[in-house]
Amino acid sequence: MSLVYDFSATDGSDADLLGGKGAGLARMTSLGLPVPPGFTIPTDVCRAVMLTGETPEGLWPEVAEAMTRLESQTGRSLGGGPVPLLVSVRSGAEVSMPGTMDTVLNIGINDDVVSILADWSGDDHFAWDVYRRFVQMYANVVLGLEEKLFQKVLADLRTFRGVGHDADLTAADLERATRLFQSIVKDHHPDGIPADPVEQVKGAISAVFRSWNSDRAISYRRINRIRSEMGTAATVQMMVFGDLGDSSGTGVCFTRDPATGARLSYGDYLPRAQGEDVVAGIRNTLSLDDLGELHPGCHRELIEIMEKLEEHYRDMCDIEFTIEKDHLYILQTRPGKRTAAAAVRLAVAMHGEGLIDKPTAVSRVEPSSLEQLHRPRVSGSVRRSAALLRGVAASPGAASGHVVFDAESAVERAKAGVPVILVTPATAPDDIHGMSAAAGILTSQGGKTSHAAVVARGMGKPAVTGAATLVVDLESSTASASGTEIAEGDILTIDGTSGAVYLGTIDLVEPEQLPELDTLLGWADEIRSIGVRANADTAEDAALSRRRGAAGIGLARTEHMFMGERLEVVRTIILSSEPEARTRAMDTLERLQVGDFEGLLEAMDGLPVVVRLLDPPLHEFLPSRFELEREMLRRVRAGIAIDDLRKMSDQVAIWEETNPMLGLRGVRLGLMLGNLYRMQARAAVSALVRRIEAGGDPHLEIMIPLVSDVEELSRMRVMIEEEIAAAAADTGLELTVPVGTMIELPRAALTAAAIAAQADFFSFGTNDLTQMTYGLSRDDAEGLFLREYLETGVFTSDPFQTLDQAGVGRLVKVATEEGKEANPNLVVGLCGEHGGDPESISFVAALGLDYVSCSPPRIEGARLAAAQAAINGRV
Ligand code: PEP
Ligand code: MG
Repeated sequence: MSLVYDFSATDGSDADLLGGKGAGLARMTSLGLPVPPGFTIPTDVCRAVMLTGETPEGLWPEVAEAMTRLESQTGRSLGGGPVPLLVSVRSGAEVSMPGTMDTVLNIGINDDVVSILADWSGDDHFAWDVYRRFVQMYANVVLGLEEKLFQKVLADLRTFRGVGHDADLTAADLERATRLFQSIVKDHHPDGIPADPVEQVKGAISAVFRSWNSDRAISYRRINRIRSEMGTAATVQMMVFGDLGDSSGTGVCFTRDPATGARLSYGDYLPRAQGEDVVAGIRNTLSLDDLGELHPGCHRELIEIMEKLEEHYRDMCDIEFTIEKDHLYILQTRPGKRTAAAAVRLAVAMHGEGLIDKPTAVSRVEPSSLEQLHRPRVSGSVRRSAALLRGVAASPGAASGHVVFDAESAVERAKAGVPVILVTPATAPDDIHGMSAAAGILTSQGGKTSHAAVVARGMGKPAVTGAATLVVDLESSTASASGTEIAEGDILTIDGTSGAVYLGTIDLVEPEQLPELDTLLGWADEIRSIGVRANADTAEDAALSRRRGAAGIGLARTEHMFMGERLEVVRTIILSSEPEARTRAMDTLERLQVGDFEGLLEAMDGLPVVVRLLDPPLHEFLPSRFELEREMLRRVRAGIAIDDLRKMSDQVAIWEETNPMLGLRGVRLGLMLGNLYRMQARAAVSALVRRIEAGGDPHLEIMIPLVSDVEELSRMRVMIEEEIAAAAADTGLELTVPVGTMIELPRAALTAAAIAAQADFFSFGTNDLTQMTYGLSRDDAEGLFLREYLETGVFTSDPFQTLDQAGVGRLVKVATEEGKEANPNLVVGLCGEHGGDPESISFVAALGLDYVSCSPPRIEGARLAAAQAAINGRV
């Protein structure tokens, strides 16, 4: 293995070896751009260091030789004059990990070099500033001393001089700072910082490799799912000085506007500064136009280089540059980070300009970012530090509203036209009406797969969950956060895109309409093979899903139709001991359900609508015994009779289960309360008939949940077909209603062949399938240990968000293969949360599933992800 690559020795096509930064520098050198010379130590050296704990033999001699070569390339001298050679050592992995690894600048300076530098530049202030920056950075990065030790010295000097900025200190002050820094270093490391420039370079290279395994880098990799074996490269590059008087400066520019994607170069320039000063944002920067006035020649050259780089990379580039005494140098380039709107516009525009083909354009946009395009957002001018508290960014978008602490108040206030934020420790299914009424949801518990998060995303509502510093007291209807009391009616703004929560109303901006999005998604549709349907339970959601491009409904959860005011009716059906009351309740529900289903079929006219029969864990429908007992206690104290409540409590006790998620749910409930499922099937078929009679083109399918044994499905099928036959006989219509099942239990997956013989379609309910395969409660795990598992790396990803391919995925594969073999006409879909997750979509598309189904806000992302899976050759 080669241990050192000069920038001029390769064409920079190997980012895996050279890291993004090293590859970019080599590429720009080969294009003849003004890049300060240097060399790269490749990623495999970092990997070797990680493996053995030692630097490979021969590395240091090669580095010393490369430094000598650098002297002759630059005409500058290491440790001497007339022009001293100073270098930077920077990290750079194949993928960008901004701010997580180390950099050391101004290497090569010592007591001799500082005076040579002062002579060459004619500027003592500059020379001592370079020296003090070097000592400060080397001590911190290489020797591990705390930055605050040095900040204190600078702060004392500023106070002594009565100035606000380090730049206003005198040369003598900076010399003093340097000497004080050196004595701090000696207190901790008696040998101090080596004076020999090559020794300094070695120390910095070792530190850069070590920083691959810093806590910051490790957690960044975990969050962004970057392989830890990848390793970083280290680039050593001649320093050019943006702080060398008024004819110098440093800046960052983008070849197009990264916020909007507009074809407008955009940049920040800071005169008399070193690179990190721009990023740190300590001084107000100038624009590129200002740069044009200050340095017209450099500005012209920069614009030409921007054009050249964009044409070369065929992408928007982010470029770091420095001007040293009126000479322009390019220090780095990489694909620029962009907002979702900019990404879409850029992809479509660059195809229009002939720079990229359609598959490349489709691959340029992150599918999950599309959700952002439809949500109001906190204006970019609001400082993040103004936030009162922070939680998990659970559902994107932002909303302001008056605080309420329970679902009823949310409904009440919302009815009066007041926007509300529902603030609660956690939400439960019977809060749905409150969540639906609220503009946003804030919880102190739970993460991205908590009930609040999942439901909010499904509803397209902003939510911040798991805000650990928020203490909610439901008894007194108050909350507090970091000493601030929050009462009912107070105004909060939550930003579900960032997880920030602000006191009061914050400026929100409406998302712009993006015609380019339709163009891009049209291309995605041409490319993809797997279908995308919607999880939608209301006509409004169905209509929205259709606008977003869903090819039907893959899952209508009928239990969501039983919440709010209808809950009482359902309770009567389950709990009432009077047959007549039960029949009346059932009739009421049937009437309501016909309307529900008609709405769905109408909104999705011409497209399939999969109605899933009831599947609640029973406890979600029953009153809480704890609440009943509390109410009984209250009544006893007030001398009011409690017979009715006692009766109800006894009834509830009959149905009570220790593990409701493993209990009387889905088809089990359907077989126990046969009339309920029969009623739903009848209502769905009535709706079908009404739509046909109204001249529509409805396509109803009926789905049975939580089947574990084929016999459960067979019995249900008989019952449903009886209802279909009865309706057909009544109306004389020919009714075709496919009947299928969810596959959400491992046993169902493993006996898929037998089940497929009784099913027209399968739909993988991967929420339950994950829960049941892991033996992990989807309601509780997150709060108790899943987050900890993810933070400490026991799990590398959340199996409720991204399908576990090795375990749950294997069940999906087996069931798909064996199901399709047993029944070649079997249609197979997936309707768990994973249906909106790009990685999971790519996996199941490769398995040959016919469609995925996801919540309305994720439909566009799913269309794009499906196309990207096809482009990447998985399908
Ligand atoms: C599932 O289990 O994946 C599913 C879609 O059903 P639910 O989330 O309603 O249990
Ligand atoms: Mg389920």
